[in-house]
Amino acid sequence: MPPENRPAAPSLAPSLAPSLAPNLAHGRPYLAIPGPSVMPDRVLNAMHRAAPNIYGGALYDMVASLWPDLRALAGTTQNVAIYIANGHGAWEAANANLFSRGDRALVLATGRFGIGWAESIRAMGVAVDVLDFGRSSPVDLARVEEALKADRTHAIKVVTVTHVDTASSARNDVAALRRLMDDLHHPALLAVDCIASMACDEFRMDDWGVDVTVAASQKGIMVPPGLGFVWFSDRALERCREADLRTPYWAWEPRARGTEFWQHWAGTAPTHHLFALREALDMIGEEGLPNIWARHETLARAVWAAFAAWNRGNPEIRLNIADPAHRGRAVTAARMGGAPHATRLRDWCEQRAGVTLGIGLGMALPGDPEWHGYLRVAHMGHVNAHMTLGVLSVMQAGLEALEIPHGDGALAAAATEIARATRA
Ligand SMILES: *Cc1c(COP(=O)(O)O)cnc(C)c1O
Repeated sequence: MPPENRPAAPSLAPSLAPSLAPNLAHGRPYLAIPGPSVMPDRVLNAMHRAAPNIYGGALYDMVASLWPDLRALAGTTQNVAIYIANGHGAWEAANANLFSRGDRALVLATGRFGIGWAESIRAMGVAVDVLDFGRSSPVDLARVEEALKADRTHAIKVVTVTHVDTASSARNDVAALRRLMDDLHHPALLAVDCIASMACDEFRMDDWGVDVTVAASQKGIMVPPGLGFVWFSDRALERCREADLRTPYWAWEPRARGTEFWQHWAGTAPTHHLFALREALDMIGEEGLPNIWARHETLARAVWAAFAAWNRGNPEIRLNIADPAHRGRAVTAARMGGAPHATRLRDWCEQRAGVTLGIGLGMALPGDPEWHGYLRVAHMGHVNAHMTLGVLSVMQAGLEALEIPHGDGALAAAATEIARATRA
């Protein structure tokens, strides 16, 4: 650009005094919201290439290598379909293959995302019974038992549950749910939303007897939003052959078992997302799933320890899920000392320190002043100790700057959790 057309540069003269208190947000920003999560440079770089030929060649070999790794990711030897979709699209993909109009589903909801799946199933013409366990509790199996026992004709075709509900951060015991269904000899298929938990929380599709698992690319899988995944059992494939909600684009069998390359995508492949996925699966393979689960466990415990310390000086600061056994390891939902402290803290962290925290989702309606009392901290995907300790330190500074009452010792408590885990 010729010099005369350049916009005037801001003055760099060092003699100018800062006009405000220093802003400490300059530097690499950190998006600590529960999706999209941090994208590794390796994943971004893998996408930076020319469009490949989709009619043969290297792309076919690369894609052939994805299927076994995707199966291993979910702990299954069965089927997996990839969709060009976000999590809502993955829900509808599962629904379209599972149901016929007039079928019945039992949805177990432990937060906003359980309710969301129920809404998508109902909108497609399926009768939905929702068992709502509220916004801060896991599934109560006694209530599920009651509902399944009352279903004497076995009208319920599918039970759906959210493994980790990203809104409440409740984590459900999927294996125990399957055991209950088996003990009651109820034939319903079990479908699980692992969008938040995949590659963060331990999940074993085949060992736990799950029939359908849904996930999306932009959380623990570390790929930009745009890929949805549906893993399905051979049993689900057989049982749902006649499902009449299925249309050619959403049908899972050609996507999973197609003999022509285009059938996997019902058209053009999402080429660059697939390069990103290949790189992310390499990273997951290099670290190893058990190590990834342990890393998330440790980072989650560091976050919980900080909140416990803050809570000791202000009982209004508290985690949404009281029992650690029922907390997701990828995201933590909290009440931050009441409204509007959570919003003030989120704004401070983003504007003053370069860290974006998650809004409270589904805890209060956006128009309600209470909405400003909740936030979420993500510790999902490409996150390490310095990032999580950094987020907690920034929150600590924000609590002090904004004079939000809180207990002492949060950062030391978080560091102790990290230290303890590395000694184990
Ligand atoms: C993020 C999320 C969704 C929705 O995914 P989108 O990609 O935003 O459509 C659904 N369920 C759970 C558990 C999630 O974490």
